[in-house]
Amino acid sequence: MGDKGLHPAARAWAAGVIRLRLADRRRHRCQRGHLWVYRSDLEPGQEVPDGEPVVVEHPRGGVVGTGLASARSQIAVRLLARGEVAVDEGFLRDRLCAAIARRAGGRPCHRLVWSEGDLLPGLIVDRYHDRLVVQATTAGMDRRLGLLIDLLRELTGAAQVVERNDLPVRAHEGLEQRAGVRHGPADTVLEATLGAARWRIDLLDPHKTGTYLDQQDAHERVAALVRPGMRVADVFSHLGGFGVHAALRGAQAVCVDQAAASVAGVRAAADLNGVGDRIEAIEADAFAWLRGEARAKARYDVVVLDPPSFARNRDALPAALRGYTDLHRHALDLLGTGGVLATFTCSHHVDETAFREAILDAAAAGGRTLRLDGRFDQPTDHPVLAAIPETEYLRGLRYTVIDGG
Ligand code: SAH
Repeated sequence: MGDKGLHPAARAWAAGVIRLRLADRRRHRCQRGHLWVYRSDLEPGQEVPDGEPVVVEHPRGGVVGTGLASARSQIAVRLLARGEVAVDEGFLRDRLCAAIARRAGGRPCHRLVWSEGDLLPGLIVDRYHDRLVVQATTAGMDRRLGLLIDLLRELTGAAQVVERNDLPVRAHEGLEQRAGVRHGPADTVLEATLGAARWRIDLLDPHKTGTYLDQQDAHERVAALVRPGMRVADVFSHLGGFGVHAALRGAQAVCVDQAAASVAGVRAAADLNGVGDRIEAIEADAFAWLRGEARAKARYDVVVLDPPSFARNRDALPAALRGYTDLHRHALDLLGTGGVLATFTCSHHVDETAFREAILDAAAAGGRTLRLDGRFDQPTDHPVLAAIPETEYLRGLRYTVIDGG
């Protein structure tokens, strides 16, 4: 692309920006909408600047896109846009505005910016009412964090901004671990409405194992199936999102998690929501607990399985699928005919076909017949970028046992 037609400021910027060339003359995945340019995709011998804007060019000519470079990571560039753009305050403001506009009118707590899904790779922002939690996972976003926080404050009027840059992935970019309040009061504890329940959350809680926000829809949808007096098992419960919502509908819920902090969180949430008498919080390994309940011939009306990712990479997939089959075998033992299974996977390597096969293997082994009643989609505040499979990670299925119970 020539300079003609560019705004003078953009032209001045373009003159100084570093340009990197791809090695391979074939079509690059980024030309289909992917955003990652690996170091190995680049023509050798080019110096990759750390955290700076770069324009990526194709060896056949033409610009693939503009992004922020990382000198230390295997992913040398994460693109922000097709073509040539100035990665300046105006650009970042527009991207943030688009992300904020997409969530307008939604839940009071949600993921406000989700990295690649919002064309802001390396930036994650969660909103808890009038407070924001920011994370930068790339050198480029880390360098711009002060500016991004200023823009976020301007655009949302946030009363508090907390930085949670205590993320292991930052090591890939040579970034240090950092957490603290960047704006607003020092107290990071709040009472948040997630789904239909209240939760006491510390935005700087060192035990926080992951997102709190991505299962809100599912918590409410599963609770909608519950009638008073039903027995519900919330397995891999974390703070008990499924169990607490079920208890609010009158169910008797058991929440199982191996982390002591999660179990304490369940108890606190049960009290906060006035359902302490309908929730039992158990600290246990889920597999062992399920086996124990099966041995005791315990029965539940609804079993929820929401484990952490079993397959962090493709090589781990076969073992992960065996793990899912094993897990579902035990879970099905707790359900009679008419019992409901709501089951989730948060690994993008496990596609729906593979997940369904693993569950079917479990049903077959136990002589049970399942009806597939529906699915739970990834919530819209965690947008899936069509060209990046990794952005689609959360899948859920709802089954009813209709025979063999
Ligand atoms: N269901 C939760 C999210 C679960 S995250 C929600 O809706 O918010 C996964 C949880 O599984 C974590 O809290 C983790 O502590 C727990 N966990 C991981 N391995 C486990 C195991 N083997 N047995 C029981 N819990 C486990």
